[in-house]
Amino acid sequence: MTEPTAPLLELRNVHAAYGRIEVLHGIDLVVPRGQVVALLGPNGAGKTTTLLVATGQHPASQGCVHVGGRHVNGVKPDELARLGLCTIPEGRGVFRSLTVRENLVMASYRGLPADQIIESAVARFPRLGERIGQVAGTLSGGEQQMLAMARGLATDPGLLIIDELSMGLAPLIVAELYEIVAGIATEGVSILVVEQFARTVLGVADPAVIMQHGHVVAAGPPADLEAELSAAYLGAST
Ligand code: ATP
Repeated sequence: MTEPTAPLLELRNVHAAYGRIEVLHGIDLVVPRGQVVALLGPNGAGKTTTLLVATGQHPASQGCVHVGGRHVNGVKPDELARLGLCTIPEGRGVFRSLTVRENLVMASYRGLPADQIIESAVARFPRLGERIGQVAGTLSGGEQQMLAMARGLATDPGLLIIDELSMGLAPLIVAELYEIVAGIATEGVSILVVEQFARTVLGVADPAVIMQHGHVVAAGPPADLEAELSAAYLGAST
């Protein structure tokens, strides 16, 4: 059982390695209920590895992972999904050769009726309603991200983890998607969004967490992190 008041996700002093090379050197990260947390950092900072550890896909060599207050080191990804974790992978994880409707129907495997999933997806993303019979591979990038989010929400998650929401999308679409993300959080779903760098996320996230070289180098309200953000990205390009 998870504790109703505990943060959805909590990493404490998490270390992780590939073979003998340690790439996470003691990560602390908390995703409180109903909040959007942005995990930011340049190439190779360790963001994806942090997600892999949080979702049970890569082991922590030290430290604790808690989901809803429950210690989950070593727990398998499907069990974590049952505890309410849902990941939207980089590249979005939709079935490109299936229609929007078929993609949504396939998300109903965890029990919610397909009609209900389609109805709530279309209510939240009217654009998907207009394209319900279209093959997902022919949707725009933004529409594919909407479909991926609708599929994720169909599992009624407590925590939605979105990897690189902005990848390959125009700034206006990214802004539109982040407004939707903020709305989802107000409904009580916690959101952890990983971005290499998308300034738009700073408008909806609190806190933002900046990683560099396998460490958290700063965390807090985005407005307080301007200097750290500049340093992280300037440092990365030299
Ligand atoms: P990006 O924004 O480029 O995806 P990231 O912040 O997500 O970067 P990670 O992918 O977590 O960073 O990588 C952290 C470090 O771990 C990097 O030095 C990377 O080379 C290394 N790494 C990642 N995956 C593997 C792997 N499968 N085997 C060995 N080293 C890896």
